[in-house]
Amino acid sequence: ARGRPRSLHLSHVCSSNRQQRRLLNHFISKTAPETAEEQHHPAPFRFTLAVKDNIATTGSSQPTTCASPFLSAHHSPFEATIVSQLRARGARVVGKTNLDEFGMGSHSTHSAFGAVAQQPQQTPPSQVQQQNPQTHQHDLSTPTKGASPLLSSQISAGGSSGGSAVAVAAGDADVALGTDTGGSVRLPAAYCGIVGYKPSYGMLSRFGVVPYANSLDTVGLLARGVGRIRELVVTGCEGGGGGGGEGGGGGGPLWEEQDNRDPTSLSAAARMRCVKGRKGYDDTSGWRKKKRAGAGGEVLRGLRFGIPLEYNIEELDPRIRDAWAETARVLQDGFGARAVPVSLPSTRHALAAYYVIAPAEASSNLAKYDGVRYGARDTEAASDAAGGVLYAGSRGKGFGDEVKRRILLGSYTLSSEAMDNYFIKAQRVRRLVRKDFNRVFALDNPLHERETFDLTELDESIDMEDKWGPEEVDFLLCPTAPTLAPKLEGVMSQTPLDAYMNDVLTVPASLAGLPAISIPMPVAPRKAGDVEQNTATAGLQLIGQYWDDARLLAVADAVL
Ligand code: GLN
Repeated sequence: ARGRPRSLHLSHVCSSNRQQRRLLNHFISKTAPETAEEQHHPAPFRFTLAVKDNIATTGSSQPTTCASPFLSAHHSPFEATIVSQLRARGARVVGKTNLDEFGMGSHSTHSAFGAVAQQPQQTPPSQVQQQNPQTHQHDLSTPTKGASPLLSSQISAGGSSGGSAVAVAAGDADVALGTDTGGSVRLPAAYCGIVGYKPSYGMLSRFGVVPYANSLDTVGLLARGVGRIRELVVTGCEGGGGGGGEGGGGGGPLWEEQDNRDPTSLSAAARMRCVKGRKGYDDTSGWRKKKRAGAGGEVLRGLRFGIPLEYNIEELDPRIRDAWAETARVLQDGFGARAVPVSLPSTRHALAAYYVIAPAEASSNLAKYDGVRYGARDTEAASDAAGGVLYAGSRGKGFGDEVKRRILLGSYTLSSEAMDNYFIKAQRVRRLVRKDFNRVFALDNPLHERETFDLTELDESIDMEDKWGPEEVDFLLCPTAPTLAPKLEGVMSQTPLDAYMNDVLTVPASLAGLPAISIPMPVAPRKAGDVEQNTATAGLQLIGQYWDDARLLAVADAVL
């Protein structure tokens, strides 16, 4: 392979980013060192883990707040399966990370604990990281506003898993857990110059993950490289773990593990059927060892990457467009892969459909927070004899503005007069989006071969559309976000619609339940002195067919 590049050498951007960025307000609570809870888990320490604060943990220093005033003092009586699974593989939880309240947002600014920020220079992270977790015990009357005043130089960490992305980028954790409903792992990874992986829907357990939109929610992983994620999810951790509490399972690959406590977790039999007979897969390892051992570049030889034309939107930053084209060119010329244009015509409706479906499901999920069944009670209203005042008081104080907006939106689109025009139409668009993907991928979608597999389909009719049009592809290659990380100041004055626009390139894969990963891609700085010069990375997104996660991660590893 001498003379030919062995990888695209995108990885160097991670470390340079780490030097340049000083990062702020990314933890809501930090784990006290050597707590008793850790002693119950005999697994040898292998890596540090930051956990998004909408994922349940039980440590006394770790409330599970969802960055909501409603849950700011909530301690979960149980631990999320994914946390137990990672601890069984040697994870040491270092803290709970800041997010947009309940995962709703794209910049980690809608938090009761203040916005997460990336600071291009100065301001050592210790200022905010050293906070004693005990200071984060809030009640409804005193939600914490911005932990530090906004500086004009600060840039968005992306959201909603912004705290997790920053924890990894800053070196505070080797791996971080996030949730990705419409891009919340991939977008912050892109903005922070790290790797963010969203698995196939139903692959990783969501038990203990506070739901936002159930038909879209996934748990994702963030890290500085692809290797660790791949090891945890696909190949298994050799020699690691062994302890494995309930739901743990030692060091085996996560993709194999069904969780009975999560009704959307694919059954063991379905998992096997998903890989059975698939090219490159065998029934036990999911992805052949031979390929795994292959040198980076070899994995890419002969692969076809689809360049979705509809992702080349007008709003795309020209630097990102150039870097995207350059990556496709290098894959083709340097690695023996092929880049072929494909069309996904429903893409332009995907964003609108997402912002109908996600708030609709959210409005239903959040109904239980009323100060009686769940969440902090508005004590003033509680003394009022009329129950309605208690609900209104608690919900009025307990939710932030963005969450209230989503509840209103969702309640409206589910109402009898609007249902047909919004919710039902959005479901149709969702099906079209999925058909677009199924048409361009060379692999079939295992969920659509048998109706019984289908967990996301809310319509009763499933008709498999024949593949047509140009060549079928192995993966789609596109940017993760239309812009580089914007300045936080500008984000704060954005309209909600502007913020929703950010998700235009990530929501299609979410609607279809497909695996996708964002890896850092260097872009040329526009001019010297440009603020965004420090953010000279964008996210390159790879999207795979359903349950093609093992290949997706192998390919992302080779590309990075
Ligand atoms: N930004 C999107 C939203 O606000 C995605 C959020 C997510 O993936 N959790 O809904």
